[in-house]
Amino acid sequence: MYFSELASFFQKLETTDSRNAMTEILADLFSQASAAEIDKICYLCLGRLVPQYESYEFNLAEKLMFEVLAKAYGKDKEAVKTLYGRLGDLGGVAQALASEKGEVKSIKDSTVEEVFTKLWEVAGVEGEGSVEKKINLLAELIASLAPISAKYAVRIPLKKLRLGFSDMTILDSLSFMKKKDKSLRKKIEPFYNISADIGKIARAFKEKDLEGLESIRIVPGTPIRTASAERLPNAEAIIAKIGKCAAEPKYDGFRVQIHKKDQEVHIFSRNLEEMSASFPEISAATKKISVSSIIFEGEAIGFNSETQEFLPFQETVQRKRKYGITEMAKKIPLKVFVFDLFFREGQKLIDQPYHQRRQQLEEIFRKSQSDVFAIAEKKIFEQACDLEAFFQEKISQGLEGVVVKKLDAPYEAGSRGFSWIKYKREEKGALDDTLDCLIMGYYYGRGKRAGFGIGALLVAVYNAAEDVFESIAKIGTGLTDEQWMEIKKECDALKVEGKPARYKVHKDLNPQVWVLPKLVTVVRADEITKSPLHTAGKIGAEAGYALRFPRVMELLRHDKKPEDATTVKEITELYGMQ
Ligand code: ATP
Repeated sequence: MYFSELASFFQKLETTDSRNAMTEILADLFSQASAAEIDKICYLCLGRLVPQYESYEFNLAEKLMFEVLAKAYGKDKEAVKTLYGRLGDLGGVAQALASEKGEVKSIKDSTVEEVFTKLWEVAGVEGEGSVEKKINLLAELIASLAPISAKYAVRIPLKKLRLGFSDMTILDSLSFMKKKDKSLRKKIEPFYNISADIGKIARAFKEKDLEGLESIRIVPGTPIRTASAERLPNAEAIIAKIGKCAAEPKYDGFRVQIHKKDQEVHIFSRNLEEMSASFPEISAATKKISVSSIIFEGEAIGFNSETQEFLPFQETVQRKRKYGITEMAKKIPLKVFVFDLFFREGQKLIDQPYHQRRQQLEEIFRKSQSDVFAIAEKKIFEQACDLEAFFQEKISQGLEGVVVKKLDAPYEAGSRGFSWIKYKREEKGALDDTLDCLIMGYYYGRGKRAGFGIGALLVAVYNAAEDVFESIAKIGTGLTDEQWMEIKKECDALKVEGKPARYKVHKDLNPQVWVLPKLVTVVRADEITKSPLHTAGKIGAEAGYALRFPRVMELLRHDKKPEDATTVKEITELYGMQ
């Protein structure tokens, strides 16, 4: 496929505001792509060169792009800047300058593969003189492209190709490509859940349909999508739901998925971002585990070994950083409470029942003499009163509560189910838990806030069945002035003209500024109520759900993807529990 053809698809995707239309356009794109290029096309569609969990970055600031464009089109840097001032988008600037320049002989000759290879080369430049070299390589590429191709080839290195869909939309589109409907998504998704490389999945499926996917295996280095817990309000409800069960403390740190193959270690966050560089002590301890290949999961938490006390989440979370790592590792050493095992010595374990996975996990970690790893405590319960006592004990130790696990359940990669149930400390208010909501946009402020240009946020929950975001609240409280400024800055970096395709919002609630799906904020409310305006959980003419007295509790959860926001299904359940 020529890159200009791909760019035309980008253009179509960019201008559609319906999730379904997007799925069909992508399906059309995938059916025209060859198996050899479909993986690269998937990454490019998401504005990347590698799967989401890998980091292979361009590290190219906007100001360098001025130089690239000046060089590519033989213009003065100031002229490029002026045009940018007018258009507000460097992709648009490239398109305009390329059109001005007129026909370029080699235009039609650039295939997706060729452009991908060149971009790859640009991102890979390192060492002395790398900035200059990057500029030259990229300018050479941009100069050879047709206007529409140049527009998108410029946006990719700037991380500005935001077409507004996720890996999930791609899964639907793959189904659509073969069947003209989404029915195959259910069959494709389990493979994606154990191997979260969307390019690899698309390629295997393109090559040999579902049979092709059979070749997808769990491999160390490719993350497995995490399982999530359902919640229940008390021990009786839990025992009534799953009977005899295991309960583990709910450690309040951050989740880590750790992969080891020989001496190669990868540590992924809940969001499946590669974090190995931030946790040198976990990497070192993993290398010492006496198996050659393993994938396991645990919760990392700051731990004071003198006092044997856990550190509060606010301290632990300081370890999630890219700079000053060594210093912080000394200040806040981490302990990883391991709780699940997915893979061991080439063998896939996620389909085995919990109690068997757990047994093997204990076997491995009992042997490892490590200060970093500890096995998460586990007890078996049949009676609600005993489970309740265990829960109370954990609360008194300063923990969040417990995670209860069904003894015979497989690991439910990529989904939220009752195989795991979280039972958390009660907090004031009828609504016990906080909600993770996606920021859809913001409204300009009135009164004092008018000065900030932001007065309230429109937030949404995730409708996983339809892969769309539905509005649930307008929030104007809970933030300090500094936080309003900060959130505005974050929002402005993701601002778009029209309503993003996957947003469902009643027109009376349209915010003044729309924001692409990216920012997840933690919200508390007194109650879930019914609403004629909000679309969360709305079916036909029925009312949707809204939040009463919503306020922001934690500005942003960078470890959560938009699709990790609280779901409509959870809201419906929480409403039922009230
Ligand atoms: P929350 O905000 O309540 O932690 P979440 O949406 O981040 O929820 P869930 O999957 O719903 O995540 O709840 C389980 C979370 O609890 C996991 O993300 C994990 O990080 C954490 N956790 C702590 N201890 C355990 C444990 N023993 N077993 C499983 N998960 C645990």
